[in-house]
Order: sequence, then C-alpha cells, then structure tokens
Amino acid sequence: MHYYSHTDINLKTTFKDALLASLANDGGLWMPSVIPSFSESELINLAAMNFSDCAAHLSEYFVSNQLNNKTLNKICYDAYNFKLPIKTTLGDEQNPNVTSNSQDYILELFHGPTLAFKDFAARFMARCTSELLSKSIKRKTILVATSGDTGGAIGDAFLNQKNINVIILFPKNGVSKVQEQQLCTIGNSYSNIQAVKVNGTFDDCQKLVKDAFSNKSMSKKFSLMSANSINVGRVIPQSFYYLWSSLQVKATNPKLPIVYSIPSGNLGNLTGGLLAKKMGAPIDRFIVGNNANDPFVRYLKSGNYNPLPSIPTLSNAMDIGRPNNFPRILELYSNNYENITEVCKGFSFSDSETEIHIKKIFNETGYLMCPHTAIGHLAMIEYRNKNRTDFIGVTVATAHPSKFTENVDRIIGHKTEMPDTLKSIFKKKKIYNTISPNITELEAILLNSIL
Ligand SMILES: *Cc1c(COP(=O)(O)O)cnc(C)c1O
Repeated sequence: MHYYSHTDINLKTTFKDALLASLANDGGLWMPSVIPSFSESELINLAAMNFSDCAAHLSEYFVSNQLNNKTLNKICYDAYNFKLPIKTTLGDEQNPNVTSNSQDYILELFHGPTLAFKDFAARFMARCTSELLSKSIKRKTILVATSGDTGGAIGDAFLNQKNINVIILFPKNGVSKVQEQQLCTIGNSYSNIQAVKVNGTFDDCQKLVKDAFSNKSMSKKFSLMSANSINVGRVIPQSFYYLWSSLQVKATNPKLPIVYSIPSGNLGNLTGGLLAKKMGAPIDRFIVGNNANDPFVRYLKSGNYNPLPSIPTLSNAMDIGRPNNFPRILELYSNNYENITEVCKGFSFSDSETEIHIKKIFNETGYLMCPHTAIGHLAMIEYRNKNRTDFIGVTVATAHPSKFTENVDRIIGHKTEMPDTLKSIFKKKKIYNTISPNITELEAILLNSIL
C-alpha cells in the first residue's frame, strides 16, 4: 500500500511523506493505491467496536506499518475523546440503538473541542504528524487557509506540538465572530500558533498558500506542510465516521437503503464518505448540499465543471469556488461521469432558503441547525421529495449552531445560550497580524515565525 499522485500514477510515496509533503512534486494530490474492502463478517466486527477502536483498525490500512497498532490505538483514543451522536431532528438522543420509526437522522460531528467536524481530521492528523516527526529535529511550518472552521481545528490540534509552527490565514470579514475569536485566541504571543488576517477573500488566502507552496525556495526554507484538505491526511480520517455510523444505522434498520447528505465546500468530507463506501460502508448514495457556490452541484447536473470565484454566504465554511478535492473524486471513479452521478446527487440553496429552514425546523422541533447543516438537511428533503422509494436519510451536521450565533440568533429571533467552551474564549484577548494578499508580506510573517 502506497500513495500515488493523481496526475502521475508512477509518482509514489509513503503515508509519512504524503502527509508531510502534502502535494506530489508534480502538484498532484496523493491518493491511496489500495482502498481496503471489508467482507460482511469483517463489517460485523467493525460495527461492534466503539468508534475509537474502529478508527484505529481502519487507520492501520492507510498508515501501512509506519505507525504500529499500539500507537494508532493511542492516537485514536486520544483524538476521539468526545461523543458522536446519531440523533433524530426531534432532538432525542438515540445513540446508537435507534428505536423510533424516524427515517431522518442527524449525525452530529461537532462535539470536538472546536465544535466543527474538522476536529475529526485535525486531531488524527496532528497526532500522526507528531509521532512521525518525533525523531526528527527538522521544524515544519503548517500554512493553512481557513474559511472559518479549519483554522480553529488545526490550531487547537497542533497547539504546543514540538517542531511545528502553524500559520493560519483567514479572510477579513469572511469568518463568523465566534470563529475569529477562536482563531485568534488559540495560542499566546509565545506559542506555535499564529493567526493572520488577510485583507481579502478566502480565495485570496487559498491562493497565498498555493503560491507559497509552489515557490520552491520558500517551501523548502520553511519546510511547509499543508493542513487543508489537499492533504490526504485530512481526508482519510473523514472516512472513519461514515463507515462506523452507517454500520450503527444499518444494525437497527437492516432493510432500508441508507443515504447520507453532506453540506459541502472543498468536498473533503464527501471524499471521506466515498472512501468509506468503497471500503464497504452500507451507504447507497450521497447527497451534496451547496450554497450559492455550487460548482459540484452544477457539474452533477451538466457534466461540465466550471469553477468560479467564491461569493460570501451565510454558510461561510462552504464559500468555495474551486473545490480542491474535485480531482480526487474523479480519480476514485476513473473519470466516469455516469458512475459519479449514480452515487452523488446534488442540490444548492440560497441564504434565504437556509434561513427559512433553520427557523422552520427550530419552531417545529426545537432542533437548532447551523447554516451549513441546514443546507445538508434541505438537500436531503429535496432528494426525498424527488425520490419515491423509502430510505434512511442521515444528514451530516458539520458545526455547532453557536459558532454562527450572530446569524442564528437573528434568524430564530432570540438569544441562544453558548456552550461553556465558547464562552471561555470570549474572555481572552485576540492576537493576530494583518497582511494584504501578497506573498512578500506572507514571507515576512513566516520569517518572523522561525526566529
Ligand atoms: C469545512 C466545512 C464544510 C465543508 O466541508 P468540505 O470538506 O470542505 O466540503 C461544511 N460545513 C462546515 C461547518 C465546515 O466547517
């Protein structure tokens, strides 16, 4: 088992080098050469495990001897020390022995420390990186662009890790108030995490990262590593919760097909789901929810892929004009449009549709969704309306609604209580630098960080 570049199958590397180098030399995305495929009896065993054990078991296949089983077990237990509930929209927790007749589930992936699903990948990735670098004296710099949630998750996961600096680029006016507070209070002036506000959009931040990586001398001088979902180390752990949760749902409802709906931006989460399906997860299909930035939904409808500059929406973590995992999805399905559209269906929604839905579900059931999750749920409903057969729908809830409290409170018309973890960050003072979207200014920040 090795990793190969999606643009050149002969460019091969190990898990360690794929993780640490992020991109192949030809700029291609690393792909696993073999995706394990589990038999019925192996799936039954996996279903009976708790999530951490299941994750540790799956990761053995992808890490392929570079970390031993004992280490992987420790990594997964340490990374996944929070709950992973499968709920109905009525809000009653049913994890995992689903007893009601509901066919509408919510998989809440936002109970990690930064309250977004990105904790699942970030915490696994950080622990693997630190194990793999433990004998190295070389310092790495993680340069990460964030549309809101990645920066917080990566910063939190890598805080105080030896031999690693993290520079988080976030767009001015592009992230929520809570997200900005989170990003800018992770470390202190002496810690290894630094937030940088870029006077520009998320696309500008992503371009700065790209330019820094493709600048050979810069990339070498600072030993740059990406923690965005171009890094295969981000995508692999995102398959674990699809495999595990679908097995739990299947166990309680063996007869009906299972459909997942994923609110999507860079398509990293969807790629994790597609990997899980290839491993044998009992998932019939994936529904993709996009906001006004909907290049993938348009591709599914027309067969044409037309990335556009991103525009700001209420679901800011999905304001992606050019999803960076699109090539991985093509690769997983050998560029076969028919096969992709068989597995993936997509719908997009405006901000006003999102607002109406958040309010409606809250008024009807008391369940409060973040704007991203609301788009996933809307997409699920749209698919159900178009599709007359019975199925179990699982909507992936990607963030806690309180991360978007200024909008969510306005939409439902009253103030909601924040979880304690968020209240405490508002007691801290924000620390960040500001730059224009220009590589020289970024280089100055990088230089300063290695002093
Ligand atoms: C990052 C993010 C998404 C989009 O995930 P992708 O893997 O980029 O498609 C959706 N919702 C939330 C809350 C996010 O933070």
